[in-house]
Amino acid sequence: MATIKAIEGRSIHQIQSGQVVIDLCSVVKELVENSLDAGATSIEVRFKANGLDSIEVQDNGHGISKENYDTVALKHCTSKLSNYDDLSSLQTFGFRGEALSSLCALSNLQILTAQAHEAPKGTRLDFESSGELKATSVIASQKGTTVMVEALFANLPVRRQELERNIKREYTKVLGVLQAYACISASVKFAVSNILAKGKKVVIFATKSNVSTRESIANVFGAKTLSALVSMDLRFDLQDTRNKKYTAGKGDPQVGVVGHVSRPVVGEGRQTPDRQMFFVNARPCTLPQFAKVFNEVYKSYNVSQSPFVFANIIIDTDAYDVNVSPDKRTILLHEQTALLESLRMALVELFEHQDQTVPQTQR
Ligand code: ADP
Ligand code: MG
Repeated sequence: MATIKAIEGRSIHQIQSGQVVIDLCSVVKELVENSLDAGATSIEVRFKANGLDSIEVQDNGHGISKENYDTVALKHCTSKLSNYDDLSSLQTFGFRGEALSSLCALSNLQILTAQAHEAPKGTRLDFESSGELKATSVIASQKGTTVMVEALFANLPVRRQELERNIKREYTKVLGVLQAYACISASVKFAVSNILAKGKKVVIFATKSNVSTRESIANVFGAKTLSALVSMDLRFDLQDTRNKKYTAGKGDPQVGVVGHVSRPVVGEGRQTPDRQMFFVNARPCTLPQFAKVFNEVYKSYNVSQSPFVFANIIIDTDAYDVNVSPDKRTILLHEQTALLESLRMALVELFEHQDQTVPQTQR
């Protein structure tokens, strides 16, 4: 019989990293969240060959201080959390200190960074696959940080092949995630571009900072999409819903669903892209049960398409759990059933008050 042996440290790191960085989407999400956590007001995401060659995220955030160069990409090293008790009060996206360390194990990672007092000089950091700092050199840099990820999954041949085979789908999914961050982050200017195989640069979308969500939606999805949307500001009292009594529009609400949704247009073809974006207190996440309610209610008015949904659920931070999946996109809402029921009723009410014919301008 084979002897039981401990797995070698490097392999363990690689296996665990594969659970944090599962695909192209998780790379981009982690890097963009790091930029947002660094207080950036401008974030530029550049793909090469849809991300197959490289992914670069450049921000104008606070940068990384010299004393953190050694630990920045080490596993479980974070500047955002020091013990588990901090978790409930956490305002940042990151807290596990796993993204950069995982990326070192799964790609060639390079960081360029400069703090305000250092610019226009900065530092380039190169790492070992273990996350240890390998070398630093002085470069020219504005304040902020650029993280470059090259050859993702190159050392995991099966994962790499899967990425190459599914790159179109993966890339589309990534853009969906970026669209969500760009629309919800009103104070941040986003620019997303892709350099194709022959060196041609394509700008995917760009938003401005300090504009309304509606303006960002127009910048990302087009003015035509925006004009087919109705704003929603649904507020309800969960205590009432639990008692089978639905109260809409109460003052000082416990819960709100705020955003934009396609106007239900009876018997018309496609008006809006069927993009659906969900947020809990402005944190992008996947909420399949909420999507289902939107789709079902919408389909009772228009069977021929799914709605565009941009929905931010505003709720007490102790009413849900973020720390359930490594990618933090799965959120556990403690009162989900009551919440969904309230949402269904509020949506019916919203749609009932909408003019369900197509506006002249859009015919
Ligand atoms: P986490 O975000 O969970 O702390 P990461 O591995 O994503 O872990 O990042 C490790 C640390 O590196 C962060 O805590 C932060 O101090 C620093 N860092 C990462 N990205 C940036 C950035 N864009 N700007 C400034 N600091 C950054
Ligand atoms: Mg992070």
